[in-house]
Amino acid sequence: MSSKSLPYKRIVVKFGTNLLTAGSNRLEKDIMSRLSSQVASLHHQGLELVVISSGAIAAGRYKLGLAEEPKGIPYKQVLASIGQSRLMNVYEQLFEQHGITVAQALLTKADLSNRAGYLNARNTLLALLELRVLCIVNENDVVAVDEIQEAKFGDNDNLSAMVANLIDADLLIMLTDTAGLYSADPQRHPDAHLINRVDKIDAEVERLAADTPSEMGTGGMVTKIEAARLATASGVSMVIADGRLPDVIIRLAGGEAVGTHFLPSALKLESRKRWMLSGLCVRGKLFIDSGAATALEKKNRSLLAAGIERVEGKCQRGDIVNIYNSRGRRIGCGISNYSSADIETIKGAHSGQIAELLGYDYGSEVVHRNNLVIF
Ligand code: GLU
Repeated sequence: MSSKSLPYKRIVVKFGTNLLTAGSNRLEKDIMSRLSSQVASLHHQGLELVVISSGAIAAGRYKLGLAEEPKGIPYKQVLASIGQSRLMNVYEQLFEQHGITVAQALLTKADLSNRAGYLNARNTLLALLELRVLCIVNENDVVAVDEIQEAKFGDNDNLSAMVANLIDADLLIMLTDTAGLYSADPQRHPDAHLINRVDKIDAEVERLAADTPSEMGTGGMVTKIEAARLATASGVSMVIADGRLPDVIIRLAGGEAVGTHFLPSALKLESRKRWMLSGLCVRGKLFIDSGAATALEKKNRSLLAAGIERVEGKCQRGDIVNIYNSRGRRIGCGISNYSSADIETIKGAHSGQIAELLGYDYGSEVVHRNNLVIF
């Protein structure tokens, strides 16, 4: 079959720890073999795939066989460094059987936070796709410590959305050990049903995710919804599905409705805007009034000083800022023409007053619509 008949060309597929271990304390080769065969089959049909794989920490823990967490050492980092090579070793053997060369990329949030790092990672991943080498990505847990939030994704859900954003994927498949997002906790509500399709991630979807109990690796449903927000805003479709279903990756790549499908909320964005959206380099927060929110969301307008109610954090002119509506919901982000100190002075003012208030004027837009991404 040629890839022309398939709806997606470039796919990121993420395997969670609980899927790879089948809930046990070790990597389950059978399940990894089934997943790898599906990826291999799509690869041979001409699709471009990148795999995000968890399981390093679980593999390290199993190898060490310690019943108790030793005190005084960065335990998770140690486990990740032991397990990562074991994890890769399994993939290497499995994909070898299909004649596919694999590569490893270990990323951290800090690596991607500056524009140069983001572009370097992007170039490497795109070059691997070009060479038809299958790249297997994980967070570099050895250096990305929990304590430094800005440096670490912390879960592979967010990492996989970032990679989908980075390489401009068409589809992000998140495989786990549940069927998807439910209308209520299925353990407590027997009439709970699987939600097949989410058109827009709103407060209700977030509430459902928060209510879904999770024994799923580090992430759980909340981080999957965070990931869906970034993926869909970047123009990427996302699916959460049960990785144990037969041929699930192949079926999803063929456009079959399995699991919960999140529709892209935007058309594909140019790379610069996708990077802004990634939120990796955000310096400040602007809270705007409802009139300004409507102008941004519905009328594709720039953000003017008059609509800004409050500024939090410190930013310089040219930094990326997050934009929140009056209910505290993040609605977009963009490049600020003014520093946070300037915005503090001009917020609420009409454009004509800016020069008078500051003694200079960089234009009437605090964030110009060309430098703005709305979710
Ligand atoms: N990077 C972690 C690992 O390989 C997994 C993080 C997650 O479960 O999301 O074990």
